[in-house]
Amino acid sequence: MTTQWDSVVIGSGLAGLTYALRASEYGKVCVLTKAQIADSNTSWAQGGIAAAVGESDSWELHEKDTLIAGAGLCDPDAVRQLVMNAPDAILWLQSIGTQFDGHDLDQLTLGREGGHSRHRIVHFADRTGWEIERAVTEAVRNSPNITVFEEAFVSSLLMSGDRCVGARANIAELGERDFLGSATLVATGGCGMVYTHTTNPRVATADGIGLADRVGAEIEGMEFMQFHPTVLVHPQMRGFLITEACRGAGGTLRNHRGKRFMNFYDDRLELAPRDIVSRSIEREMERLDTWCVYLDIAHLAPELIKEEFPTIWERLRSIGIEIEKEWIPVAPAQHYSCGGIKTDLNGQTNIPGLYASGEVACTGVHGANRLASNSLLEAMVFSKQAAEAAQSEPAPSPADEPSPTPSLRESDAIRIRHSLQHCMTHGAGVFRSDKGLMKAQEQIVSLEREVATLPEAPFSAYAQEAVNMLAAARHVVASAIERKDNVGLHYNVDSVAE
Ligand SMILES: Cc1cc2nc3c(=O)[nH]c(=O)nc-3n(C[C@H](O)[C@H](O)[C@H](O)COP(=O)(O)OP(=O)(O)OC[C@H]3O[C@@H](n4cnc5c(N)ncnc54)[C@H](O)[C@@H]3O)c2cc1C
Repeated sequence: MTTQWDSVVIGSGLAGLTYALRASEYGKVCVLTKAQIADSNTSWAQGGIAAAVGESDSWELHEKDTLIAGAGLCDPDAVRQLVMNAPDAILWLQSIGTQFDGHDLDQLTLGREGGHSRHRIVHFADRTGWEIERAVTEAVRNSPNITVFEEAFVSSLLMSGDRCVGARANIAELGERDFLGSATLVATGGCGMVYTHTTNPRVATADGIGLADRVGAEIEGMEFMQFHPTVLVHPQMRGFLITEACRGAGGTLRNHRGKRFMNFYDDRLELAPRDIVSRSIEREMERLDTWCVYLDIAHLAPELIKEEFPTIWERLRSIGIEIEKEWIPVAPAQHYSCGGIKTDLNGQTNIPGLYASGEVACTGVHGANRLASNSLLEAMVFSKQAAEAAQSEPAPSPADEPSPTPSLRESDAIRIRHSLQHCMTHGAGVFRSDKGLMKAQEQIVSLEREVATLPEAPFSAYAQEAVNMLAAARHVVASAIERKDNVGLHYNVDSVAE
């Protein structure tokens, strides 16, 4: 069955739902999302949104900090568009009912994170993403022009010649459906599941990269993978993020012997940029042949801990860790993909009719490294632009039959996903080497070959995710091999004089 829309949106995080709300002012929009509407990286964001709304702040300072973090590889026009539109993005979120600490724009309580020269992180305690997702979801539910399909796994983009004209989804209990649209937005979020340990929820399987790759969209910057330094190491809650704000509030890092170690690696100690702290922790773990270090916030006032970090306090307590009394076991884990589907300032890709926004896109804003709390902002600013640009797209022509995405048996997919995660964690993690990258590339080629020869099986989202994860991994490793200098998040031990 085929239905026709003005816009087809894939994904229900902040990028997808912002676009849907903006585009619904001009026409009918459908949102396809593979789990429940709030299942997204957006819901997990803790720290907040960067916006120059403080008294001593300006968009010029926010721009400068973003360009410094990006290590010379940002697109300056994209950065300017991002920072100049930040205060409006906050006002827009408030207009649809999002709450922030401090309430009015000129009275917001602003946090500070690594790399920012001012306090400029607008937040709602340590559950900013949850609050934002709640508000945008409610606004979407109230919009008569938006229809949301949950449990709708998009398996292919629909093409008519060289133009994208929509998406094919497999919907629980309905089966396969085609959604034709004048414009199609890929807003499928990140690719954390490509690695063994990640802060991302289970929906982050790089589907947008796989979808775009199969229709020839340009993908770039995938070597710039951000690893968050302080991610909980615990069998019951692996991957739970311990926000950088804990270190901002005075938290210290110690090895298992109780010794602070950041002074051996960087003068900025615990508040050095995330990539440097991640590399320092990895080095310390290797030096002591162990698998975690500890974050100590036990010296902070218990009231402050409960007020500033209520989610962390509560979640860790539920697994028996009292953070006001004991240290938190942490290690680096995959967190954010700076690269993705290449877009212009309007979120347009090289494929007519196809747009991308949010973590899956590479707008040029982050360059070689993302400044903390710029990603929720990017999702809003570029989705608004895309929704406006999409108004001039022509009505879709009938779609060509897409070439089928390989469907594997889940038993095969389990093995392939685990092999891939192992290979990426060892070959394309925080530290890379020429040998490790070449080995990872060989393994990915061999896994993709294997997929092509495995027996066909009925549709399985889990199995199709494996195919998309392989495509994303192929791009990460190829870009990492191609990059000869160590810049931002990319660090190859064979490229530096040690
Ligand atoms: C723990 C954590 C903390 C973070 N903290 C911050 C922070 O403080 N500040 C900040 O700016 N950023 C933060 N980030 C990053 C930020 O949350 C994400 O970059 C941002 O939310 C991405 O939004 P998005 O809309 O692009 O993707 P997401 O919010 O991940 O949404 C993607 C959507 O696409 C859907 N989808 C995926 N594949 C398919 C498919 N095949 N078919 C249909 N639907 C599909 C998913 O189900 C989901 O609904 C954090 C991330 C994490 C994980």
